[in-house]
Amino acid sequence: MAERVIPLIDQRVAARAAAVPAQAIAADGLLVDTLGRPLRDLRISVTDRCNFRCSYCMPKEVFGKDYPYLPHTDLLTFEEITRIARQFVAHGVRKIRLTGGEPLLRKNIEILIEQLSALRTVDGAALDLTLTTNGSLLERKARALKAAGLQRVTVSLDGLDDSVFRSMNDVDFPVAEVLDGIAAAREAGLGPIKVNMVVKRGTNEHEILPMARHFRGTGIVLRFIEYMDVGATNGWRMNEVMPSADVVKHIRSELPLVQLEHSARGETAERWGYADAQGKHDAAAGEIGVISSVTQAFCGDCNRARLSTEGRLYLCLFATQGHDLRSLVRGNASDEQLASAIGHVWQGRSDRYSQLRSSMAPDSGTGARRVEMSYIGG
Ligand code: SF4
Repeated sequence: MAERVIPLIDQRVAARAAAVPAQAIAADGLLVDTLGRPLRDLRISVTDRCNFRCSYCMPKEVFGKDYPYLPHTDLLTFEEITRIARQFVAHGVRKIRLTGGEPLLRKNIEILIEQLSALRTVDGAALDLTLTTNGSLLERKARALKAAGLQRVTVSLDGLDDSVFRSMNDVDFPVAEVLDGIAAAREAGLGPIKVNMVVKRGTNEHEILPMARHFRGTGIVLRFIEYMDVGATNGWRMNEVMPSADVVKHIRSELPLVQLEHSARGETAERWGYADAQGKHDAAAGEIGVISSVTQAFCGDCNRARLSTEGRLYLCLFATQGHDLRSLVRGNASDEQLASAIGHVWQGRSDRYSQLRSSMAPDSGTGARRVEMSYIGG
């Protein structure tokens, strides 16, 4: 087995100042990028820290105890995050997802959620405010998150078998406590709840059917995510990717499925409903999703922007460069100038890494200079 090369590259340095264009760009919700994609979804990373060390995201060899995490003074304050988010919403964002690292590690995150939940979309509707978590703190926090205005959660869970789960998250954390967190979220009224499982061939594909059996009929939507070449530290190899088509085939070997329509433009998951004896979708049994960034790229409708915990705007999960908004916020730019700068960056966007990946010899394995997923959120 060839030695896995993990280049140590600190991506956080590669950012340019977001310029305020001479010609103001109105925040009227009609903003599109160079491929005609609107800005509808903002992912906000509120911390670069996590209490797990998932090998596909934050491998322990790199993110050890001496890793130079961001000092607290570098992080955007809740007021700064909300001010920036307000400009994105004015440009058309309808959904905000809080991520990390592990977002529930950010102290008093309920305060931020309260501030964000007060924002309204360009047509006056409430935002779709959600959060992705590893579930380790969810049981303790679920009620407070709901009370603060959070609507729903997505929980990462890569298996039901404790030894498999530990081999994926590389910390000694039991599955049972994540399941307790999911139950607490449901009791608190956070929903619909989604569970994300990253499938890594050779590590946890035998957990696919146990997970499907476990969540079938519970109202929780289980999504299977293809293992991705995110960042520059996970030593990604194509032969460890289990294509979603194989995942669906594997599940169908026991549980009949029928394909469902996408629920919204830009949705990343392909939906499959559990089928009844007539081959129709059995709504009570529920559905699964597959997210296939490697084998079925979905860049064509990608309407997602990402804000790092220290205020850098990234236009793609696989970006190699960020745009610094914090210097504008702390440099006394007006809201109009901030909105213009964001508009200017989005208008120039042409990112479609996953579409291009397939023409880039996927096994190149370089992965150099891509931003880390733990820094900008999945
Ligand atoms: S690869 Fe980049 S552009 Fe394509 S869907 Fe993912 S985030 Fe969007």
